[in-house]
Amino acid sequence: MLFTRTLAACAAVLGVLSCAPKEPERLVLFIGLDGASLDMVDDLRAEGRLPTFDRLIRSGISGPLQSWASKPIMSEHLRRGFWSPIVWTSIATGKIPEKHGVRDFVLPIPGTSAVWMGAEEDPARATMTLPELHGQAPLMLTMRMHSFGSAGAQSVQLLWNGELVDTVQLEDAWQEIAVEVTSAPVRNTIELVFARQARAKDGRKLAAELSWLAVTDGAGEEIFHLDPVLQREHLGRGFYPPRGQLTEVQSLHWRAKPFWSLLGDAGVPVGIVGYWGTWPAYPVNGFLVSSRMGIRDQRAGSSRLTWPETLAEEIAPLAPDAIDLAPTFERLHVSECDPPLIEQQSVLKKILIQDEYYVRVARELLPKMDSGMFSIYLRSIDVAGHPTLHWRHGQPIPEGCPESVRDIMDETYVQIDRWLQEILEALPRRATVVIVSDHGMRPIEGGGHHAPFGLFIAQGEGLRRGEVFRGSTVLDVAPTILYLLGADVPLEMDGKVLAQIFESNWLAQHAPRYADIDTTLDIKYREGGEDGFETDVSEEALEQLRVLGYIE
Ligand SMILES: [Zn+2]
Repeated sequence: MLFTRTLAACAAVLGVLSCAPKEPERLVLFIGLDGASLDMVDDLRAEGRLPTFDRLIRSGISGPLQSWASKPIMSEHLRRGFWSPIVWTSIATGKIPEKHGVRDFVLPIPGTSAVWMGAEEDPARATMTLPELHGQAPLMLTMRMHSFGSAGAQSVQLLWNGELVDTVQLEDAWQEIAVEVTSAPVRNTIELVFARQARAKDGRKLAAELSWLAVTDGAGEEIFHLDPVLQREHLGRGFYPPRGQLTEVQSLHWRAKPFWSLLGDAGVPVGIVGYWGTWPAYPVNGFLVSSRMGIRDQRAGSSRLTWPETLAEEIAPLAPDAIDLAPTFERLHVSECDPPLIEQQSVLKKILIQDEYYVRVARELLPKMDSGMFSIYLRSIDVAGHPTLHWRHGQPIPEGCPESVRDIMDETYVQIDRWLQEILEALPRRATVVIVSDHGMRPIEGGGHHAPFGLFIAQGEGLRRGEVFRGSTVLDVAPTILYLLGADVPLEMDGKVLAQIFESNWLAQHAPRYADIDTTLDIKYREGGEDGFETDVSEEALEQLRVLGYIE
């Protein structure tokens, strides 16, 4: 239907109808493989062990896909790196983390962001830097704060660009403090000087807590809003690291639309299965199986597991259990150590069960799609790689483990190849296949760790065949998917259409179209009062992240 629209536009401009023959609507199969590296795939297909990957790569185009490094904002112990939920959101939105909002493995439940202020020296000072502000004068600066309980009510001096603008009384209960300010070119700073602070039980000296800051202009329009947790780059001295009610990445944290929402807006049918951070499920032009569906302990007690909500019941009987996966666990040598490596083993088993479930869901739902975009996410490679990749590269294996555990990584790729084949067999007709990963993996001392290059494989009509290309990043995936389905690419995206992967004839007939499209994603599940979000914390998801070492 999109190519029909393109044709109509073409005819209107040129005044002829013979502009191009009507093309059949495209079906795109998008497969996300967490942690997959092209060099591993090439090694194993050279040995003849990955027939499905081999066929796709030989008849399509492939290349290393550069990941995106960022420093998580909540996990103080993590350095700048290629972190899955952050990168997968960049893949889906075509945007850098600062714009899409998913900046860590764990984030505060929306509406609960707050940061304590205080300092070892007295009086405590907290400073923030605001960007250049444009708006009708006068500007009003509002902050939601409260004084630390044992410090009691106190007076706070507010300094704006170094000058005292007001002294306010701060109570123990949350309140909104507003002062009028004049903006300065380029950079504005606000400094809060507290009259009192007190020592908390954990030994920190605390003065007050801030939940947000907003600047409104003379016309009453909000021109700047600061969430002190998500936009920590604006906080200077006098702020402690945030401690809030943290949860796994949820759809509520996304601030930019993923490509499936943009495709839906353009009238393209979509189906999404298991993509990172898609719970609670939200309306799409088709169906969405959220990221909490794959693991039993996560779906238990959760609502909004799918869109439409009734889909969850329909696919529930497809859920495999450990017995169904017994042959897979055996092939992968998952349980061969004595004593068993309980934690790693249990997370890998859960993720293998999740991947098998998503493949079964694909086999059920994919045959019903004759056009549009179907997406499936499989995580086993990443989870198998963390505890075992170094064994593949000759590092010592734990006492009690047989030599066969060195094959866990390779066998996981073989299993993924098998699943790929099952998914391809479920396609109702010829489709374009796109496979991407969020980062690669490399052996480190005692494990496997994320590496800067993942993979990109695409095969289908108009795509180059049997070639290897370079120069793509994870930001280019969303624009390229939109382009493949004939949709306009938002100018706001940081990536670009990977024009180099298409045959030049095809490209000449299908010029990429960029347009000024609003990509803001506004998912709210408020229930009751202002702070009442219909969401919760998945202890199961947090436990997995702990075992993998992402959070403490
Ligand atoms: Zn990953």
